[in-house]
Amino acid sequence: EVVVNRIAAGEIIQRPANALKELLENSLDAQSTHIQVQVKAGGLKLLQIQDNGTGIRREDLAIVCERFTTSKLTRFEDLSQIATFGFRGEALASISHVAHLSIQTKTAKEKCGYKATYADGKLQGQPKPCAGNQGTIICIEDLFYNMPQRRQALRSPAEEFQRLSEVLARYAVHNPRVGFTLRKQGDAQPALRTPVASSRSENIRIIYGAAISKELLEFSHRDEVYKFEAECLITQVNYSAKKCQMLLFINQRLVESTGLTSVDSIYATYLPRGHHPFVYMSLTLPPQNLDVNVHPTKHEVHFLYQEEIVDSIKQQVEARLLGSNA
Ligand code: ADP
Ligand code: MG
Repeated sequence: EVVVNRIAAGEIIQRPANALKELLENSLDAQSTHIQVQVKAGGLKLLQIQDNGTGIRREDLAIVCERFTTSKLTRFEDLSQIATFGFRGEALASISHVAHLSIQTKTAKEKCGYKATYADGKLQGQPKPCAGNQGTIICIEDLFYNMPQRRQALRSPAEEFQRLSEVLARYAVHNPRVGFTLRKQGDAQPALRTPVASSRSENIRIIYGAAISKELLEFSHRDEVYKFEAECLITQVNYSAKKCQMLLFINQRLVESTGLTSVDSIYATYLPRGHHPFVYMSLTLPPQNLDVNVHPTKHEVHFLYQEEIVDSIKQQVEARLLGSNA
C-alpha cells in the first residue's frame, strides 16, 4: 500500500515546481499577505514556504496529510469547482509520501505554535509546542528520497530552480497584493522579491523588466454570452524571439496549457511573424464549464466555448490596439 500511495503521489508531485504551486495556493487560500520561499538545490534538498496566513489549528494537524482531507469545502459552494481545481486535499498527503515533511503553524487564537512532522500521510508522534508568529511554515526536505529513479531524472538543480522561480513569478503577477520572496538558502540577496500591495503591471516590471512594461496594454472584459470575465495585460512589443511568454490563470489557478493553439491567434494579429509577446491573462468562468477530466497535476485545462472565448478576447485586443494607434 505504501508503494501504491507513493506512485500516486509521484503522479501529482512530479518535480519541485509542482509542490511549490500547491503550497503557494494553500498559502493564498489562507489569506496570507507575505509569502517567503527558501530553496536549496533547486528545491530537491529543501523547499520551504513561510506565510502569515490563518495558520492550521492544532487539532487539524493530525489530519492535514490524510488524502482527500480538506478544510475548504465549506468555503466553496459549488462542488464542481472543488473537483476541478485543487481542494481535494491531496497536495500535502502526496508530498508526505515522497519527501520529509514538517509543518510549523500558529493560528491567531492559539497562544503558541505547533510543529508536526509527517511520513507517508501520517503524523509522527504529537505536535510539539513552539514559539512563532501567526502563519505557517511548510518544510519539504529531500524530495523523492524514496524514488531514486525520479531523483536521477531531475539531475539539474539549476533547471529546477528556474522552474520554481517561474511559478513564483506567475503567482506574484497574479496576486499583486501579496508580497513574495524567493531565496536560495545562503544567498544574501533574494532571487526574486515583490512588494506588498503592488500592482500587476508593477510586478511585471520588477520581474520581467522595464522594457516590456512600458508598452503594456491592460484591459478587462466581461462577456455575457459566453459567461466569462477576462483580465489581460499584453505587450505590444516583442518579448522574445523564441516563444510567447504566456501567464494564464483560470479561476485563480495557474494553468500551463489549455491545449488550445488558437490562443496564439490573439497576438498573431498585431505582432509581426516571428515576434512573440508577453501575455498575462486571467479568465473567470462558471466552474461547471471547466472540464474536470484533467490530469491530476491540473496543468492542462479544457473549457466550454474555448474558441469563442479566444475570439472574443482577440476582438478586444484588436479594438483596443486600433483605438490606441488612431
Ligand atoms: P487542499 O488545499 O485541497 O484542501 P492540501 O493537501 O493542499 O489540500 O491541504 C490540506 C489542508 O491543510 C488544507 O485544506 C488547509 O486546511 C491546510 N493547509 C495547508 N497549507 C496551509 C497554509 N499554508 N495555511 C493554512 N492552512 C493550510
Ligand atoms: Mg491545496
